[in-house]
Amino acid sequence: MLDTELNPSSDLWLSDVEAPQIITDPNLFKWDDQADLVIAGLGGAGIAAANEALDQGLSVIGIDKTTGGGSTAKSGGVYYAGGGTPIQKEAGIDDSPENMFNYLIQETGDIIKESTLKKFCETSAENTQWLMDNGVKFNSSYYKKKSSYPDAGYFLYHSDNSLVPSYMENAKPAARGHRGWEEGPFRPIGVGGTIFYPLKKSALKKGLRLYTQTEARSLVITETGKVVGIKVLVLPSGKIADKHKQLMSKGDSLQMLLPPSYPGASLLQFIGSLFIKRAEKIERQLWVLETENQRRAAQNLETFKTFEDLEEFNKDKEDNDRDIDIDLQNDYLLNEGMLILSDYLYLNTNFFLSEAA
Ligand SMILES: Cc1cc2nc3c(=O)[nH]c(=O)nc-3n(C[C@H](O)[C@H](O)[C@H](O)COP(=O)(O)OP(=O)(O)OC[C@H]3O[C@@H](n4cnc5c(N)ncnc54)[C@H](O)[C@@H]3O)c2cc1C
Repeated sequence: MLDTELNPSSDLWLSDVEAPQIITDPNLFKWDDQADLVIAGLGGAGIAAANEALDQGLSVIGIDKTTGGGSTAKSGGVYYAGGGTPIQKEAGIDDSPENMFNYLIQETGDIIKESTLKKFCETSAENTQWLMDNGVKFNSSYYKKKSSYPDAGYFLYHSDNSLVPSYMENAKPAARGHRGWEEGPFRPIGVGGTIFYPLKKSALKKGLRLYTQTEARSLVITETGKVVGIKVLVLPSGKIADKHKQLMSKGDSLQMLLPPSYPGASLLQFIGSLFIKRAEKIERQLWVLETENQRRAAQNLETFKTFEDLEEFNKDKEDNDRDIDIDLQNDYLLNEGMLILSDYLYLNTNFFLSEAA
């Protein structure tokens, strides 16, 4: 395990992730599901890992605290690749792993190990092909100028500084910004969804078992420190979870409609964030409901079925049993002097076993 002062008991620990749970024997533990590999967080890294593991014959569970995609799906969708990718070749651009390395080493200096950079350049073209084999589409329409983002209709461009004369002394310039491509006026036009969603589709086809609205909360480890599983919190299924999913998905779609640097993108980001905030409000309300129900159950008091019931109870000044003060507007619960703040609520606690972890 990592030897660090920053851990779940430290004041600086701002994550919801808890300290690992230690168990004596994984075989005697009651797991809710099992797989060779459990991946927590399905953005670009997670979904790529899932595809690769499935290709290697492992069974894979993927979990995400939302519906997946993360910043990858909302990104500008530019995949930096070179060394002679199929798309560079199609556009007639001459590049090689050595040329890519000679350019990048000028940018990275000693920030990363030379061997790591070399491997990145040597595998870049085959990794691009791997993405394409898993359904990601790129396009060779070539924008010849340097730009942080190319004009609409261009999907291969100079996203780096290889056209700057001082860099050109050591490496031949080559366009390496590959934008994900998708057809149709109302679909994302080159944003990160064009990379994430095909990979998700591909992984599901290969047998990925996906748990959405499922948040990893802690590792489960043996006494010798071997990671054998994770504890997750799952949003309960039903009407409320469906509403949460709908709001999240609307918010995500709006935020992914335009590349971040395009006119109108910030307005869409803003409107999307309103849907996401509503979904987060549902999470917080459920969290308040669950916390209060647990407290009341422990005192043999009546519990509430819905947040609205709790709200009603809170309004009712006549109720003699009323011994709590819940500030619903500010989304926190004041309970006998104890202030609890939380962003997320997931009700059911499940455990997943990762045999290969
Ligand atoms: C606006 C924007 C534009 C960008 N444009 C580009 C670009 O064009 N090109 C580029 O190369 N990079 C770009 N980036 C950076 C790039 O998007 C990120 O570096 C990359 O997406 C990170 O991928 P990831 O898989 O590590 O994380 P993510 O894609 O963010 O995935 C993490 C996932 O983990 C989930 N998660 C987190 N905690 C938990 C938990 N406890 N339990 C379960 N699930 C959890 C999240 O919900 C999320 O889905 C951009 C970033 C932003 C914000």
